[in-house]
Amino acid sequence: MNARLALSLLAPIVLLAGCYQVPVTGRRAMNLVDDKEVTKMSVGMFDDLKKRYRPSRNQAHQAQLQRVGSRLAKVVFWDMPDADWEFVVFDNPQINAFAMAGGKVGVFTGIFRIAKTDDQLASVIAHEIAHVTAKHVHEKLSRELAVSTVGTVGVIGGLAGGASGLAVDALAQVYGLTTGIGGFAFDREKEREADYVGLMYMARAGYDPQAAVQVMEALEAETGKDPMPPALLSTHPSHPERILKLMDAMPKALDERARSGQVANPILVR
Ligand SMILES: [Zn+2]
Repeated sequence: MNARLALSLLAPIVLLAGCYQVPVTGRRAMNLVDDKEVTKMSVGMFDDLKKRYRPSRNQAHQAQLQRVGSRLAKVVFWDMPDADWEFVVFDNPQINAFAMAGGKVGVFTGIFRIAKTDDQLASVIAHEIAHVTAKHVHEKLSRELAVSTVGTVGVIGGLAGGASGLAVDALAQVYGLTTGIGGFAFDREKEREADYVGLMYMARAGYDPQAAVQVMEALEAETGKDPMPPALLSTHPSHPERILKLMDAMPKALDERARSGQVANPILVR
């Protein structure tokens, strides 16, 4: 597909250059894509995923995800006011989780190997939701549009035509569904930002932010069992590096949690 054709296919999602501010960090970023279109495509993709992957029959896992997810959804309400939240555990051994524009959250059963408590699960979900509220997918799409790499734009261009199998695969790639949470869907700055924003979200929901460090340690242990390719190691922040950053932000997160009013009696506030 040539670049002009690819760009014309993208027309429905292209917007005049706009700017948005990332919640919590306040960072300003450029946005070239239409929020509503990205949400529409994401919702379509989530529907496809629900057909492709079987939901887990483990009722304890499903209930835990609903419990944690709905509590986090309240905290991020003003950052995602249009979200129609849906939380699904998929029956798949991968250690992976994702959140999409429109409030669609998927967790693979493998996650429960590294996130056993509500606090630990909250740290995983909060990180994924942070990628959405920070519009990292929009930023990635915008950058690819700006660069106009024929191959990439061509693939994304296919998305405008509807949620075909190919389009779903392409958006899955942008969402990083293929990398797992031990890998990284975005560049290191975005991962760090999602770590930081997610830490504040979980704390505001009354969860113990120190669980984020426990999850990172568990991921590191899993990585030891199944080493990442050297290329990934060289281009992405390591878990110890992420842990150090989380520790830096911990006093602020603990303060946010104390002010959340959800710590003393979490059962009553629900
Ligand atoms: Zn991430």
